[in-house]
Amino acid sequence: MPSVTLPDNSIRSFDSPVTVEELAADIGSGLAKATVAGRIDGRLVDASELIVADARVEILTVKDQEGLEVVRHSCAHLLAHALKQLYPEIKLAIGPVIEHGFYYDVLLEDPLGEDDLIKVETRMTELAKQNYTVKRRVVERAEAAAVFKDRQEPYKQMLVNGIPDGEVIALYEHEEYIDMCRGPHVTNTRHLNAFKLTKVAGAYWRGDSNNEMLQRIYGTAWGSKKDLKLHLHQLEEAEKRNHRKIGPQLDLFHFQEEAPGMVFWHDKGWKLFRTVKDHVREACFAGYDEVDTPQVLDKTLWERSGHWDKFGDMIFATQSDRREYAIKPMNCPGHVQIFNNKLRSYRDLPYRVAEFGVVHRNEPSGTLHGLLRARRFTQDDAHIFCDEEDLQREVGILIDLTFKVYEDFGFDDIAVALSLRPEKRVGSDVLWDKSENALVTALKRKGLDFAVQPGEGAFYGPKIEFSLKDSIGRVWQCGTVQVDFSMPDRLGATFVSEDGRRRVPVMIHRAILGSLERFIGVLIEEHAGKLPPWLSPVQAVVMNITDKYADYALEVSESLKKHGFRIDLDLRNEKIGLKIREHTLQKVPFLLVVGQRELETSTISVRALDGDDLGSMSMEEFENRLNQAIELRCRKQREG
Ligand SMILES: [Zn+2]
Ligand SMILES: [Zn+2]
Repeated sequence: MPSVTLPDNSIRSFDSPVTVEELAADIGSGLAKATVAGRIDGRLVDASELIVADARVEILTVKDQEGLEVVRHSCAHLLAHALKQLYPEIKLAIGPVIEHGFYYDVLLEDPLGEDDLIKVETRMTELAKQNYTVKRRVVERAEAAAVFKDRQEPYKQMLVNGIPDGEVIALYEHEEYIDMCRGPHVTNTRHLNAFKLTKVAGAYWRGDSNNEMLQRIYGTAWGSKKDLKLHLHQLEEAEKRNHRKIGPQLDLFHFQEEAPGMVFWHDKGWKLFRTVKDHVREACFAGYDEVDTPQVLDKTLWERSGHWDKFGDMIFATQSDRREYAIKPMNCPGHVQIFNNKLRSYRDLPYRVAEFGVVHRNEPSGTLHGLLRARRFTQDDAHIFCDEEDLQREVGILIDLTFKVYEDFGFDDIAVALSLRPEKRVGSDVLWDKSENALVTALKRKGLDFAVQPGEGAFYGPKIEFSLKDSIGRVWQCGTVQVDFSMPDRLGATFVSEDGRRRVPVMIHRAILGSLERFIGVLIEEHAGKLPPWLSPVQAVVMNITDKYADYALEVSESLKKHGFRIDLDLRNEKIGLKIREHTLQKVPFLLVVGQRELETSTISVRALDGDDLGSMSMEEFENRLNQAIELRCRKQREG
């Protein structure tokens, strides 16, 4: 009779088989109530699954990620149940779990609008409140096929036919509704009490654009109402920070159909871009040769580098005079040409070369997302050619540099991940062993916690990835450090070693911000457009109260400009209140007002963007204040 070992290694014995739920009840009634699924000898199961033999068993609640996913998946079934009641003619396809929630793909004669979601959600809530039991039943293929034929569900029938022989087919019954699924699922709908339908979108059946377009209904689901509320708040915050809205509002940039995924920077946006670029040049390019390489390079070079094979569908190809070219999707091969252009000796290593490399990648149009995912972007790209022994030290320097620069931009919650060899790769296993070891050692020496991601490396080498967390908890992957034992060899890079022989250097690819465009998108969202004085394209605007003070306003603005500040002047014959409102909406950090009193005392009256009236001060005082704010960059003002 089963003897059950729990995760804490305690053992419970039973006279006859028990379900996971019964096991939980044996431990405590609170746990029994919270149980959404289980794990028997590593296998995820429904809470109703019988434990028939000795086993290690784990009880899952919504506090476990997998338990939460069971709830999300069950919400997808609940959604389908509600839809089928409201729209009996609906055809149901698939309903998987995604990050934060779930979706269901459906076909309806009259597609659902956002308004219909409320009706569907209400029905879901009514159904869940019935606390009905969800039953799992294992069936033969023929029975499953008959069930879905009878229910007039063509997609489900196709799915039944696609299940490989020998695989278990399980039906989940929610009262009169039946779905097919691997499970596990909650055994009772009382666990489904914190969900919300969020949007509808189009999706092709099986993701193939040759197939018919279905409707995808998205929802989010959580373990508690409190978690749901928090998530919805985060979504709302994210919407307020949406850089695709803020960018045009602040006249920073725009996109248009003729250049999908390629940004048109306006004057103010380009000032922001240049500020970021200048800082990167100062902070991250010291010790590097800064170069610039051609945008268009012969196809044969990309064939030799291996990019044409592995990356071909992302390359914008072009031709002229019967020669084929690629618009560069990366800068590395160009940098190898610069390395190769001279005879290099071991004394020249490490050779560090950097470029603000503009690259083009033909990303699928569905994945484009403003600055965050563009087809044309600028990398703060650099390559280090070095000897194997230098590898760990160079990687160590890069880790320090990355952390420092992120802090300059106000990010101090940084996650590090190490990605190891993927299946599709170039280079021998010996070289992969060497390079992976170098990265592990460098990370360990810094005492960093890092996640290991097997199979996630680039085709030419393993990599370290840096992700930063923004103030509403979103994570952005930005920097990478990649070791590459392959490309220098493929492109014929060598140096003369101490013993006079030719050797192939190791190459490190590194980018700290990654894409400048994307990083600026992150910055705009992080600050909700209220960029700190360091980054703001206009740091202060000078306004006169009436025409009488126009000359003084001009004098103030010219003087500040002379000191290198980015200043706007607003001499319009408008009420001062209106001018202040407009520049506040434009999120200018400091608003400077001049009138009679300021003219007489040679001062300016200063307001901060947050509405704080900083009072009157001399020009010198204001310049000091502005300089201090700029020096702080995005670092938080420390107390004391
Ligand atoms: Zn399911
Ligand atoms: Zn590279």
